[in-house]
Amino acid sequence: MRILLVEDEVSLSEMLATSLSRQGIVVDAAPTLEMAREALMTAEYDAVVLDRNLPDGEGLDLITEIRARSAPPAVVVLSALGALDQRIDGLDQGADDYLVKPFAIEELLARLRAVARRPAAVRQERILLGGLAFDVGHRTAEIGGTVLDLPRRELLVLEALILRAGRVVSRPALEAAVYGYDDEIASNTLDSHVSRLRRKLEPAGLEIHSLRGIGYLLRPSS
Ligand code: CA
Repeated sequence: MRILLVEDEVSLSEMLATSLSRQGIVVDAAPTLEMAREALMTAEYDAVVLDRNLPDGEGLDLITEIRARSAPPAVVVLSALGALDQRIDGLDQGADDYLVKPFAIEELLARLRAVARRPAAVRQERILLGGLAFDVGHRTAEIGGTVLDLPRRELLVLEALILRAGRVVSRPALEAAVYGYDDEIASNTLDSHVSRLRRKLEPAGLEIHSLRGIGYLLRPSS
């Protein structure tokens, strides 16, 4: 794991860098927003640990820029601003987690591991693929500015496929994303959701490719 540590307090930054690298985490330190922006332009990170009160501004302002990237790193805010509204503000601005100072290093490590397990596509607010725009937070899909009318199961199929676009999603994984434990799955219903969705995605130049016995793949049609 490689992280960007945005923290202006030198002693804290050094202590964190030492502890994290002992855990096999590669740490780049940036004491200002400006240096953080530079680092984000030159390297790929799995996570950003972000202080709020920085010499050149509010750390939360960096989150929007991080989110706009195609594979955004996770953001864990690390701040002395620990009041309820301050924490809610941080999460609403797109932080994946918010840890209040003082904190235990073990907890930061555990939270970094937890956020790094989530796929990067989940952190992206809007996924653009072919002519389709998928809003991850609102769970809506648009083609040419028109919102697709998708029944719940078709939406769940699309969501599962688009969050792993370009990769094969196995049939069991897709069934798990679409049906609850108590749902009866008739063997052909998943196929019928997939084929209805397939027709709706055609105008966006997308195809759901089925690999017999393996799974499904969402990709631009060739
Ligand atoms: Ca600070």
